[in-house]
Amino acid sequence: MQSPLKISLLGIMLILGGCAKNPVTGKSELHFVNTQKEIQMGEKNYAYGQQMAGGLYTQDPALTAYIQEVGQKLAKASDRPSLPFEFVVLNDSIPNAWAMPGGKLAINRGLLLELENEAELAAVLGHEITHATARHGAKAMERQVLLSAGLLAANVALSSQNSDNTLGNNAILASAAVASQLVNTKYSRNAELEADNYGMEYMVKAGYEPMAAVSLQEKFVKLSEKKSGGWLEGLFASHPPSQHRANANLIHAQKMPGNLTLGEKRYQQKIATLKKQAPAYENYDKGIEALKKKQYVEAQALAELAIKALPTEALFHGLKGDALAKQNQREEALACYDQAIALEKQYFYFYHQRGLLRQKMGQKAQAKEDLKLSQQLLPTEEAQATLASL
Ligand SMILES: [Zn+2]
Repeated sequence: MQSPLKISLLGIMLILGGCAKNPVTGKSELHFVNTQKEIQMGEKNYAYGQQMAGGLYTQDPALTAYIQEVGQKLAKASDRPSLPFEFVVLNDSIPNAWAMPGGKLAINRGLLLELENEAELAAVLGHEITHATARHGAKAMERQVLLSAGLLAANVALSSQNSDNTLGNNAILASAAVASQLVNTKYSRNAELEADNYGMEYMVKAGYEPMAAVSLQEKFVKLSEKKSGGWLEGLFASHPPSQHRANANLIHAQKMPGNLTLGEKRYQQKIATLKKQAPAYENYDKGIEALKKKQYVEAQALAELAIKALPTEALFHGLKGDALAKQNQREEALACYDQAIALEKQYFYFYHQRGLLRQKMGQKAQAKEDLKLSQQLLPTEEAQATLASL
């Protein structure tokens, strides 16, 4: 049956839409998401996108400040410096970065560890900034609405292809589905080339050596051949690397000014703390894998190792709580979730897990309170169903 909704959406788009120039390329294209809508789309979904990838990385605020400084420098050099750009570091080991419409960007700590210098960081951020300035995400949404009225798609399951390793098999609700689509937008070959190209322009304007965009792409091509380390579910899923991109970047870089800043020493200093913490996060990631394989004792041991190395990381306490809950050690698990929440109040997962545990323990009122908080941060099917049963 042809949905009347689809027809009316199409009608609205045709009324509202019009031809406009792309702010980066200057090419004429159909716009029915205007600048105000672009900004709204990003602002509405940014927090959900962060929740889907471990929440914010808070163990080194100086690192986040540094990423923001480099990001804002590039944003000012971009074609749309007036967009309300924001940059965050997410608490996820999967090498990934994304941009939502309106200039809302994120980079995972896992990707920061793979970069050699500040110019490579600028290459990643410049590329993502272009996805926002050239409306690539907005265009993808427009295409999707045209094709399927897909914004109203039902629940989106967050499976292994998703850039999240803590959410497990939870499914998010339709109200957060747009955020998931924006985070996981797979860009076209042309959009990727365009993002590299203008990203390099922004790099040079901000004083960074454009050859870093070449070395970075070469590195990504090599890594993509190995098909390991979470790359395929992270950055490479939405921004597929290719030798063609590396070659195009080289040709472009050769026409640009050279001998600009690489910033290797500065970058290495800035990520020194993260590097030191990396083994603890590796144990945590292994613990998550053990939990998935139902090896709960192993998962608990790995969480404890991680906690010993970095006791202030809330994720580690959350994992220990999960491992204990699975072993039916409910009081101990509860204490771990309490600890996780004491350390990090803005991440849905701890409330989600504590709420489910409290429901099992018969603490109805407290379970309700937790699950409501969890739903505010990121709505999931399981929390909704459990709330309905309380
Ligand atoms: Zn891309």
